[in-house]
Amino acid sequence: MRIAVVGGGAAGFFAALNTAEKNRNARITIFEAAHKPLQKVFISGGGRCNLTHACFDPTRLTEFYPRGQQELRSLFSRFQPRDTMTWFENHGLILKTEEDNRVFPACDSSQAVIDLFMDVAEKYRIRVRPQTRVEHITPSNGGFEIQAQGKTEQFDVCILSTGYSPPGWKLAESLGHTVTPPVPSLFPFTVKSPVIAGLQGISLPVAQGKLDVAADGKSPKLQAEGALLITHTGLSGPLIYRLSAWGAQALAKAGYKATLQLDLIPALDETSLRDKLNQIFLHTEAKKKLGNTGFDPIPHRLWLSLLAASGANLEERCEVIGKKSINRLIEHIKYLKLPVSGKSPSKEEFVSCGGVALKEVDFKTMQSRLVPNLYFGGEILNIDGLTGGFNFQACWSEGWTISEALKAQN
Ligand SMILES: Cc1cc2nc3c(=O)[nH]c(=O)nc-3n(C[C@H](O)[C@H](O)[C@H](O)COP(=O)(O)OP(=O)(O)OC[C@H]3O[C@@H](n4cnc5c(N)ncnc54)[C@H](O)[C@@H]3O)c2cc1C
Repeated sequence: MRIAVVGGGAAGFFAALNTAEKNRNARITIFEAAHKPLQKVFISGGGRCNLTHACFDPTRLTEFYPRGQQELRSLFSRFQPRDTMTWFENHGLILKTEEDNRVFPACDSSQAVIDLFMDVAEKYRIRVRPQTRVEHITPSNGGFEIQAQGKTEQFDVCILSTGYSPPGWKLAESLGHTVTPPVPSLFPFTVKSPVIAGLQGISLPVAQGKLDVAADGKSPKLQAEGALLITHTGLSGPLIYRLSAWGAQALAKAGYKATLQLDLIPALDETSLRDKLNQIFLHTEAKKKLGNTGFDPIPHRLWLSLLAASGANLEERCEVIGKKSINRLIEHIKYLKLPVSGKSPSKEEFVSCGGVALKEVDFKTMQSRLVPNLYFGGEILNIDGLTGGFNFQACWSEGWTISEALKAQN
């Protein structure tokens, strides 16, 4: 069986390696457009490769995927993070699970994953062809003619795994597939507001956010919770990434304009917060200047900015703060409204939402429902996850499922 893997990234490699291990008669070629394969694995996780997430309940795991939940449930019931960890460890890579359940190579190096993949590829004589961009794929005699760099070769099976690549989506379209227009997911927000101006680097361990995306009058309200980071262009951190992922399509439609409402202390309801503020201002710190007070867990400089934005005079003693100012302060802590005016570039993980329509793929095998012997894996599909190892996990589960389907064909 001659198998062409178009795209030498995480999904394509994992499909190729597992197919080779199960099917000694497979002759596999990986076509890779870039000068080296697996370049996204190399830069992933800040160079450490967060290769999966230690969440072993398939249904709970799907909750981390804004798109593809239903399809992934069946994939994860067959190959999930526990299987990923076993796979890597059986192949000699020692892993570690961090406190937040992200899983990395114990050596903290993404190169270790690449070395492992290249070793297995060599062991099974998989042909890896860098700097070879596939230009056309034409169904022929139940298989495919693959054209790359002016040469045409015949294959029985084609695995399309071109990742985030407009020309890759064109190849899928040329084979009759529908592609939902890709838009970015997982990005920080551009926010210009005096409340956060100059406070870059300040973070809160837990905040809640509600995003009101006013695209065409119908505004989906999105909610999330997580750590929040103030950057020099606005806001970032897990909370913002979550909102950007769930709201990716609506935000793109609205030109990345939205209103963000933040609760900076979700652990305290409004009454408890008021009691605590009254206690501080009118009793324990009554004689102190407002500017010399603090309020855990809000970082000091943010606290001062919230006080100022509420109209309080930082030079005055706490006891003179009026009820109105306390009300305004509560508004700023529990219902802080900030204008989102754009999307900032992400320094961390970046993925796209959009891609090959999921209803056109049989998720029991990852085979196209339209073209026999054509398989899909990875970011080319309209599936994406949050940060934390979820995007690679989808690649591994899809790649493994392809290998099972091809084993059955042997
Ligand atoms: C900075 C960054 C950090 C990230 N960190 C993490 C992380 O820690 N954990 C996590 O889970 N996810 C992470 N991600 C997301 C993750 O990298 C992707 O979800 C994953 O790489 C997708 O794999 P893929 O195989 O679908 O695509 P890719 O890895 O993008 O591979 C596709 C390959 O196809 C090649 N190609 C495209 N067109 C052609 C063609 N016509 N012919 C031949 N080759 C072609 C491309 O050159 C590319 O090498 C990160 C992403 C970024 C950008």
